[in-house]
Amino acid sequence: MDLTSGYPYWPVKHGLLQTYPRLDEDLECDVAILGGGITGALVAYHLLEAGIGAVLLDRREIGWGSTSATTALLQYEIDVSLTDLSEMLGASHAERAYLACRDAIEKLERLAKVVGADCGFERKRSLYLASRKRDREILRTELERRQAIGLAVEWLDETDIGRRFAFSRPAALLSHDGAQVDAYALTHALLQHACSRGLRVYDRTNVTKVDASRDGVTLRTAEGHHVRARRLVFATGYETHEFLKERVAKLVSTYALVSEPMRSFEGWGEDRCLIWEHATPYLYLRTTSDGRVMMGGEDEEFRDPARRDRLLPRKTERLSKRFRELFPALDMQVAFAWAGTFGETKDGLAYIGEHPDWPCSYFALGYGGNGITYSVLAAEIIRDAMLGRPNADADLFRFDR
Ligand SMILES: Cc1cc2nc3c(=O)[nH]c(=O)nc-3n(C[C@H](O)[C@H](O)[C@H](O)COP(=O)(O)OP(=O)(O)OC[C@H]3O[C@@H](n4cnc5c(N)ncnc54)[C@H](O)[C@@H]3O)c2cc1C
Repeated sequence: MDLTSGYPYWPVKHGLLQTYPRLDEDLECDVAILGGGITGALVAYHLLEAGIGAVLLDRREIGWGSTSATTALLQYEIDVSLTDLSEMLGASHAERAYLACRDAIEKLERLAKVVGADCGFERKRSLYLASRKRDREILRTELERRQAIGLAVEWLDETDIGRRFAFSRPAALLSHDGAQVDAYALTHALLQHACSRGLRVYDRTNVTKVDASRDGVTLRTAEGHHVRARRLVFATGYETHEFLKERVAKLVSTYALVSEPMRSFEGWGEDRCLIWEHATPYLYLRTTSDGRVMMGGEDEEFRDPARRDRLLPRKTERLSKRFRELFPALDMQVAFAWAGTFGETKDGLAYIGEHPDWPCSYFALGYGGNGITYSVLAAEIIRDAMLGRPNADADLFRFDR
């Protein structure tokens, strides 16, 4: 499956940050990690830090799946509001999920410091816009629910928005706990760190068959090599449907662009916050540490990669138009545009942990618009499961929730 099309910015900017060999022999290991995107890298980092030996395999170059295409806004606000999630799963489950996602951002900040690379991590506030007057009440309820569990979020009315930003909206929520990152650079930095602790990484190594039994797991590569492992982690992103019978996510195409460096960000608020609007079509914006606008949205159900690619020029034009509507005084020239696929689950929550069809295996499926925060939680949950330690977040993301 083609996960991306066009020119995702991060690999264009960095090229191949590290190269890794193809697997050309049979191997044995404690844990095999299948997938070398941000999720696989976080899992590898956590396992190696816990003293668990691992081998990581990817069919592409490292980070060239969805991780290459991500706009990497880090928000605790998932695709389903706290209000709606509380209705679906009960207040306690929903609140714990929101707080776990908030804490994941802080954990990622610490990790970015530990691995010490320039991965563009910056704390940002996150502005959630109401599109229509009638959204105000919905946002009010959401504000109260979030404040009641200690999330730092403030209400902006039309006047506040007009004072701080170039655009007008009936209301908005300004969350204090957000961030942005360069997930591609972070993936490489995490893997380099884990390699210094003994991780072995093989890219351009396609795993075509997996046999899992109570005695362990055997992976077979397209070249006919075998990896035997006591345990396996699927960090296979949106291609996991090759292994799971049930559809746990609906695939969505999303479109993104990055601008040429901007002369000014006038009208973007004091700290160039993250901006998003859950209207249809969806919209999300950030800036980059090299002074560009990065934005995405215009999501629609994924049918096939060819259709997604055909739509790219039209979607890029629509995104540019929406930028001009928000910031009429800013001259934004598109430098690169691309499309990618992501998955939406029924409740907006990730799927993490064991699955009855796959003995000795764990899934780290950070599905959702904010998949990266889930990847942090997945890495911790899976590490703890392997160490036999309890993890307070594990039940939030079980397959049988
Ligand atoms: C345009 C776009 C914007 C996004 N914006 C955001 C955002 O703002 N914030 C956010 O948090 N998230 C965002 N996301 C989602 C985010 O990008 C994903 O959650 C994240 O990148 C998933 O990482 P991953 O490692 O799980 O998957 P991937 O990066 O896809 O990695 C999975 C890897 O598994 C490998 N693999 C799969 N099957 C096999 C096999 N059989 N053999 C060998 N290798 C295999 C693939 O080659 C791939 O490299 C966005 C996604 C897109 C497309």
